[in-house]
Order: sequence, then C-alpha cells, then structure tokens
Amino acid sequence: MDVPPFGPTRRRGQETIPMTRSLQPIAIDGAEPIFTSPPPGPLHGVLEIGQAEADAVNHVLQRKTMFRFLNKPEVSESAHLEARYREMTGQPYALAIGGGGTGSLICGLVGLGIGSGDEVIVPGYTYIATAAACLSVGAIPILAEIDQSLTLDPADVERKITEHTRAIIPVHMRGSVANMDAVMEIADRYGIAVLEDVAQANGATFHGHWAGAIGHAGAFSLQHYKLITASEGGLLITADEQVYKRAAIKHDSAMQFWADDATWPAFAGENYRMCELRAALALAQLDRLPGILERTRPVKAALLERTRHLDRLSQQTLHCAEGDCGITFALFARSTEAAQQFSEALAAEGLPNATIYNHQIPDRHIYRAWDYVLEKRTSDPTGWPWTAAPRKIEYDPGMLPQTLDVLGRCVAIAINQQWQDEHVDLAVRAITRVHDALAERGLL
Ligand SMILES: *Cc1c(COP(=O)(O)O)cnc(C)c1O
Repeated sequence: MDVPPFGPTRRRGQETIPMTRSLQPIAIDGAEPIFTSPPPGPLHGVLEIGQAEADAVNHVLQRKTMFRFLNKPEVSESAHLEARYREMTGQPYALAIGGGGTGSLICGLVGLGIGSGDEVIVPGYTYIATAAACLSVGAIPILAEIDQSLTLDPADVERKITEHTRAIIPVHMRGSVANMDAVMEIADRYGIAVLEDVAQANGATFHGHWAGAIGHAGAFSLQHYKLITASEGGLLITADEQVYKRAAIKHDSAMQFWADDATWPAFAGENYRMCELRAALALAQLDRLPGILERTRPVKAALLERTRHLDRLSQQTLHCAEGDCGITFALFARSTEAAQQFSEALAAEGLPNATIYNHQIPDRHIYRAWDYVLEKRTSDPTGWPWTAAPRKIEYDPGMLPQTLDVLGRCVAIAINQQWQDEHVDLAVRAITRVHDALAERGLL
C-alpha cells in the first residue's frame, strides 16, 4: 500500500510522531550533506581515452588509408575489430558499423529480413533510436511493458504478439540484461526473430553468454556515452551467414563487389561503413572494457548488498547479477511521490540521482516522449510506413501503465569505474540516512 506523501497524521513536526524516536535532521532539513563533493559521474570509456587511443588513431593517420577495404583484412582496423568481437562473443559473424547503434539495429533488422509493415516488439523504455530503427526499415514498433528489471516484461511481449509480429528487440538497459531465457522461449514458440539491443550493455553476460550473442543478432553502439566508444560507431554480431550478408549489403551497397563472391545476395544498400580511424579507437577502447567492468561490477554488488535490508525500498530484478555491467544502481520506492521525496533528499545529501520527473529535458528513453512515434510522423509524403501497417496501430502516452509505474518509482544512481570504496561507503550512508529519516516521517 502506498503511504501518502503528506499523510494528515504523519506530517513532520506534528506530535503524532512518537517522541521516543529520534527525528534526525538530514541534509534536506539543513544538516551537513554526507557527500562534500559528488561521486564520479556517468561516463565510462570516454574518460579512459589516453595514449593508447592516440597511438592507435595516429597509426592510421600516418598510414593514410582510412577506407577499410583498401587494407587487407590482416591489417584493417575494422577487420580486427570484427575479429575481436567474433572471438569474445563466440559468434561466427561480426560487422563493424559506422552508423552507430542505430545503424547497427537497422542493418540487423534488414539482415533478419524485417521490412515494410512488419510488427517489431520494442520496450517502452529504451532510447528512441530502437523504435526509430524499426521505422527506418518500414517496420511498425509495437510497444511493450518493462518490469522492475528495467527491461522487457516477457508476459507483455507475449500479449503483444500478433500474426504480423516478425521480431522482438529486447534492450539491455543501463547494463542489465533482459530475461533472455523467457524472450527466446517465446520467440522460438512463435517463430519470431530476436535482435538484441546491446547499446548500453557492451560486455554484459547472461549466464555465461555474451549479451548480443543469445538472440539471432545483437547490435552494439560505440557512441560517446556508451561503455566504450569509437566516438561514433557500432557493431552487429550473428551466427547466421544470411543475416550477416544481408546486413553487410545494407551497410555498404557495394559489399558484394568488395567481397568478390557471387553467392552474395545483391540489393541496394546504404553506407554505414566503419572508418579505420574509428575502428582503431574502438580497438584501443576494447582493451579497457574488462578493466572498466572489473571496477563497476563490485560497486553495484556492494550497493545492492549493503542496502538490501532497507524495507521501504525494493531492488532491481536482475536476471543475471554476475553479468550485469554495474553501471546503474536503481532503487524503487512504493509510490511515485515517495520516489520523488527520496530522490530530492538524496540529492541534498550530495548524491546525484535521477527519477523520470527530474530531467530538465523530456527523457527520450521513455516512450511517452517519443513524439514522432506516438504521432506517427514520417519523412515519406505518402505516410509510409504507417500506410503499410496491416492493422490499425494507435499510440498514446498512457498506453504502458506498468512501465510508467516502474519508472515513476525508480531512483537511479549512475556508477562509473572511478568510484572508490569511499564513494560506496558514503552512498550507503546517504541512502540509509534518507531512508530512515523519510520512513520515520511516513514519507517513504
Ligand atoms: C545509444 C542507444 C542506441 C543508439 O545508438 P547510437 O550509437 O547513438 O546510434 C540504441 N539503443 C539504445 C538502448 C541506446 O542507448
């Protein structure tokens, strides 16, 4: 049951609060904040850029061959990047993509044969690019609920399946892998393709398998904000040769000529090719990925462990705690109002955190801010791809109440590899202090 934020008998300062309990002032009341300076912020790979990245990029500049197909695969940075992803993930095909996570999703969808009017299930909590990629290939994004894992709710995925559903895009949000066992079971049962969106979870694993290597294809992003970066860029991995070849043609409309292989399918592609400079940068960053995860994972694990007993807050559902990237620590209050109170009081303690209500700009990770999707706006004068939808699809900002409830109750703290034990200690103290104080006042 939700505790009203300002219940009539529990208001702070009223004598109905038993005086035997200490009403400890907290920072929001004017007490000293726990943090005197904020913990390290949300960025990851980009903060690590150093000599190795400079040397890698310089090497390519000096060689003066930016175009990957000018270089033999033995020396091509793009080819090396692909080889590294094949080795790491165990998938036989990897395609480096210059067009970011969005371009990688687009190539993945084309690779999987998704096209005009096909329904693709996407979570209502993901970057807008996931839905945009569907529209770019003419597919219709069908929005599904998330649960307290912050990833797709498999039960809702199944409810959203129709005879027109051709693919599901589970998104491993904020480094946490979706329930891939459940998603794959549903997909297999209905004969639907699965394209993993790994943009925010590079290096995550799910019970020993690389995130991205569980579905029929996996799309990564190497953009500035992601775990490691090539400035811009992405990657697609798959075990299916046809998916790879179709994706490769979409990514370079001359691919079949470079490949010099008559067995390639041929159709008009675009240009999402990786450039050698960016691939070199990505390779240098890839060496840093294990070190980043080695440092973020224990921070999240410690925060989970040391706040587990706080009874007014619940924790994120983790489908694979060991494989989680550890880049977001999320706590859930019992109501939206309580989450807001908690968030503000925690911020006053000097611990930056986010709820869906304190973003200055509309958060494009939440479907209700996906204006052009909800309004079915399109670049095509005929209104395509909406004109190709085999049934009437309507969107509205309130259509995923469970997603809004989960996100409304969620208070998220960004973790990066620069957190020290001291930051963990202070964060636990701040969270505990605010929890206890707000609980005592009936606000949590
Ligand atoms: C960043 C992101 C994308 C898009 O990646 P770009 O490299 O910016 O194109 C797609 N999906 C999710 C979940 C993302 O976070």
